[in-house]
Amino acid sequence: RLEIRNITRVFDGRRVVDDVSLKVMPGQVTCLLGPSGCGKSTTLRIIAGVDMQDAGEIYIDGKLICDTVFRIPPERRSIGLMFQDFALFPHLSVGQNVAFGLSGSKAEKRARVEDLLDRVNLRRFIDDYPHQLSGGEQQRVALARALAPRPRIMLMDEPFSGLDNRLRDEIRDQTLGVLKDEGTAVLLVTHEPDEAMRMADEIALMRGGQIVQRGAPYNIYNAPVDRAAAAFFSDIN
Ligand code: ATP
Ligand code: MG
Repeated sequence: RLEIRNITRVFDGRRVVDDVSLKVMPGQVTCLLGPSGCGKSTTLRIIAGVDMQDAGEIYIDGKLICDTVFRIPPERRSIGLMFQDFALFPHLSVGQNVAFGLSGSKAEKRARVEDLLDRVNLRRFIDDYPHQLSGGEQQRVALARALAPRPRIMLMDEPFSGLDNRLRDEIRDQTLGVLKDEGTAVLLVTHEPDEAMRMADEIALMRGGQIVQRGAPYNIYNAPVDRAAAAFFSDIN
């Protein structure tokens, strides 16, 4: 379970993230949805630990991970990351890429890698190299790699952009299935309302650094908080 409380980040005197609080439960997907520049990626970077908030706290499973004085480093937060530029290691095979962050015996690692590759239908590529795979296949390997160490939290920043529609639907569904099976708490950033409608258990609508509305997709769609929110959702078909 991920919880952030009153996170604020100031750049050049501007509150790019302004008093944002959020909770994400295990096996649930929360979408941080909002227009370009509203502070989504900055929020995710702070949770990942690659940027530092000016105020506020982050908790994972009730344990303080980071406030303005205390800070657990990114690699010890049990957070998986999937960003748009999901680069695999080109000199490692698919299997080695997925095994990269794993500890344990060789047999244990092998079993975990094979299981994950099975679930994204890529077992047959285990000994191939990234350049031998299509973009969509590479993206699924990146997903398997991010999930391999069983992170409690998965942060995804527009991970499905740059795919054609059909492939995007397929990878999206596959990704969600695996994440739910593993009981991972997912925070997914998107600026596309229809993506949030499809994927989210809960949507947090962000604007100008603030969360202006949150709730189940259906509720937000049917009862937008104001005209701007209504307009934002209006081009969903
Ligand atoms: P998009 O949908 O386009 O990815 P976003 O919601 O992810 O947008 P952010 O990347 O979080 O937006 O940026 C929010 C604002 O903060 C932007 O106006 C951006 O210019 C500003 N910003 C982000 N990082 C920095 C930085 N390191 N220094 C100064 N300003 C920054
Ligand atoms: Mg962004």
